[in-house]
Amino acid sequence: MSAELLEGAGVAQAIKDEVAAEVARLAERGLHKKEILVPGLATVIVGDDPASHIYVSSKVKTCQQLGLYSEKIELPANTTTAELLETVASLNARDEIDGILVQMPLPSQIDSTKVLNSIDPSKDVDGFHPVNVGRLALNEPGLRPCTPAGIIEMLDRSGIEISGARAVVLGRSRLVGLPLSLLLLHRNATVTVCHSRTKDLARVASEADILVAAIGRIGMVDAGYIKPGATVIDVGINKVTTISDLERFFGDDAGRRAAFEKRGYTLIGDVNPRGATEVAGHFTPVPGGVGPLTIAMLMKNTLSACTVRRGGP
Ligand code: NDP
Repeated sequence: MSAELLEGAGVAQAIKDEVAAEVARLAERGLHKKEILVPGLATVIVGDDPASHIYVSSKVKTCQQLGLYSEKIELPANTTTAELLETVASLNARDEIDGILVQMPLPSQIDSTKVLNSIDPSKDVDGFHPVNVGRLALNEPGLRPCTPAGIIEMLDRSGIEISGARAVVLGRSRLVGLPLSLLLLHRNATVTVCHSRTKDLARVASEADILVAAIGRIGMVDAGYIKPGATVIDVGINKVTTISDLERFFGDDAGRRAAFEKRGYTLIGDVNPRGATEVAGHFTPVPGGVGPLTIAMLMKNTLSACTVRRGGP
């Protein structure tokens, strides 16, 4: 069997096109009613972590492409919890800001939980606030975490049936595993959530029609974890940094070797791509699978926060 790839870029583009069309409709309504209605996203970044700056820049750029207002607030690495809480409070109070995103990780002197919990739940476009987590648990309307919500969009738009499927989620983090398990459950999958203490992980995983790997373990999920024909969603982002791993996971793939030689690493998920190709029915490549969906869903959440807070067209 050779698995069909589920590429995220096409799905992400479709979501972004829908958001851009809706943003244009809101602007048109604004013209008629003589009011400005542009969904606004504020991103707050503390310190100079290069990866975080790249993530924030691409969020800002995507806002610009889709017609959303964006504001980037950069704070020094020695910012205190109290100072960051003040910044969040000022964004909570501004009506034209619909979404507030505080880029993680924060420097160690900052109480991240306190900061995340201070964001107005109606502007919590990351979906991490306890109010939104509670709404998700209860299947009530609310803002959902972007990566898990993007995975559901990808399954839906790829024609993969969730209702009645046996889904196994590897990982129970607040960011991915836990919210995704709840989303799958509410879509009537029969869900098993696994973690570092799960016994006989491969056997449990191999019962899945939909297997999601979100554990951050380089290529750990091999063919023995995968039921023939299953849909495998690989959320993990890891770096292959040794020649022996490069050869183990990618064989003589010339593209991978070239990427490795250029940058000193190549990206891999939690799934061994060789195993997945042989056994799965569908699987998401890394990079290019789940990755592109996260920003698209952030845009969708910002639009949704705007229409819920300020009224739709
Ligand atoms: P966390 O480290 O927060 O959580 C990892 C989870 O995996 C935990 O629940 C942990 O169990 C479990 N786990 C770890 N090792 C094993 C193991 N050997 N067997 C079974 N379970 C295990 O990670 P995140 O959820 O934040 O991220 C997971 C991966 O997804 C990372 O590689 C991350 O980079 C990537 N990611 C990708 C995104 C994207 O856009 N594509 C977005 C977000 C994350 P326990 O709870 O018992 O400790």
